Amino acid sequence: MGSTTGFLDTMRIENPFRCEEERLNDFEDLHIPQGGEARHAQASRCMNCGVPFCQSDFGCPLHNLIPEWNDLLYRGQEREALRRLLRTAPFPEFTGHVCPALCEKACNLENDGVTNRDNELYLIETGFEKGWIQPRIPAIRSGKRIAVIGSGPSGLAAADLLNQLGHEVTVIERADRPGGLLMYGIPNMKLPKEIVERRIRLMETEGIRFVLNTEAVPEELQGYDALLLCGGSRRPRSLNVEHMDAQGVMFAVDYLTAATRAVTGKKTSDASAKDLHVVVVGGGDTGNDCVGTALRQGCASVTQLEMMPAPPEDRTPNNPWPEWPRVLRTDYGQTEAIFRQGGDPRIYETTVKQILTDEWGHISALETVRLQRTPDGKFEQVSGSEQTLPCGLLLIAAGFIGCEEKTLDRFALKADGRGRLLPEDGSHHLTGRLFSAGDMRTGQSLVVRALADGRNAAREIDIWLKQ
Ligand SMILES: Cc1cc2nc3c(=O)[nH]c(=O)nc-3n(C[C@H](O)[C@H](O)[C@H](O)COP(=O)(O)OP(=O)(O)OC[C@H]3O[C@@H](n4cnc5c(N)ncnc54)[C@H](O)[C@@H]3O)c2cc1C
Ligand code: SF4
Repeated sequence: MGSTTGFLDTMRIENPFRCEEERLNDFEDLHIPQGGEARHAQASRCMNCGVPFCQSDFGCPLHNLIPEWNDLLYRGQEREALRRLLRTAPFPEFTGHVCPALCEKACNLENDGVTNRDNELYLIETGFEKGWIQPRIPAIRSGKRIAVIGSGPSGLAAADLLNQLGHEVTVIERADRPGGLLMYGIPNMKLPKEIVERRIRLMETEGIRFVLNTEAVPEELQGYDALLLCGGSRRPRSLNVEHMDAQGVMFAVDYLTAATRAVTGKKTSDASAKDLHVVVVGGGDTGNDCVGTALRQGCASVTQLEMMPAPPEDRTPNNPWPEWPRVLRTDYGQTEAIFRQGGDPRIYETTVKQILTDEWGHISALETVRLQRTPDGKFEQVSGSEQTLPCGLLLIAAGFIGCEEKTLDRFALKADGRGRLLPEDGSHHLTGRLFSAGDMRTGQSLVVRALADGRNAAREIDIWLKQ
């Protein structure tokens, strides 16, 4: 355990955000990392509770050994702390940036939880800086070949563990850079792309082969002993209105991909929001990333539409600790919009009724309408509540409905009612030599869950190969 009075002596302090005025001028990291002294003090707040909920199913999906490495960090034994962290966490530099920190909300200190995410980021970055992170090249090879299809967090985590278990791993990725949504989806200010590239270089040195710009087709994968499908939940939910094919209407991931290509290629985005009135449909995290990106590109205004009512400010009785709190959050993009525009960009219980276009087929405005719940729980439009919003760029961030049809067709597979490749027995084994993991198996989720699922799939494949 850390200091016996740690959480009484030291306040919770997270890595601070750079101020809005500064960070809106670039796509660099949102946060300013704190140094070792601050991290040791923050780690001292961990009480190593008898029942550490942070590690339980309510907390970290990787079941990271949080109290153990916090104690070591508090004592200044950073290298040993990192070693404990890496026992369960394959890529703490990713989760240290983008994890919503389920563990912190499940912490016994509740709203004042230990800053585990910042602590793990400090440990891994210290490890890279001090040269403690070195390629781990397996001494013995099994002679088994595995193809991992898709290089998002689930594919990378599975490839990493399968390689460490001695198998020969090839990752096949359709995009021009590996990382899945870590590369093209999550914006650079949330996860700088050199961090993803650093990890890929390390994995290559460790013996994993990456084949890019390649769509996986079963006929070309005959020589592999097992195939792990990690293609994500990539089918976006659309809107049921006319003119979805108008110019200036885009799905969020396409827009965010173009923005990241521009940032990493140091050129102007093909889909820039500059000087445009932007409307984002979807009040979730992806929508928030669109808001932050549009503001950085210099949009004229940004509005976010959300069909659900605003969540409560505090936990409701049916959402007790240690569950994840379903409460109102104001994320970085919304904070930036408030700074720039003077008000929260979110409009609740509202959707798009009509897309209006100009004579060149470009979106010019939106007709919105308020929604209300009927007694049987459905949504109905409130007549007379229509409003017109100017709109030069409409971004659809309304969630995802499962894996792509073409993958199902190619591999002769059938998804469940929610578009997932989730075997009925809850395993990762689909049929024959085919396995699935990540969002493709669980539905749209989180980076940390995809990492955990990829590692579980790797263990299952390893056992299956030995049978
Ligand atoms: C905009 C956005 C922001 C997000 N932000 C966060 C966040 O801050 N924190 C968080 O925890 N989660 C976040 N998420 C969710 C998180 O990114 C996903 O849950 C996670 O990336 C899923 O990982 P995955 O490996 O299953 O799939 P993905 O990351 O979707 O990767 C799938 C990969 O498979 C490739 N592929 C698919 N089919 C084929 C094929 N046939 N052949 C070859 N390659 C193929 C795709 O090109 C892609 O690279 C965000 C999601 C989005 C959309
Ligand atoms: S991966 Fe996420 S949930 Fe797990 S310890 Fe890190 S911040 Fe917490």
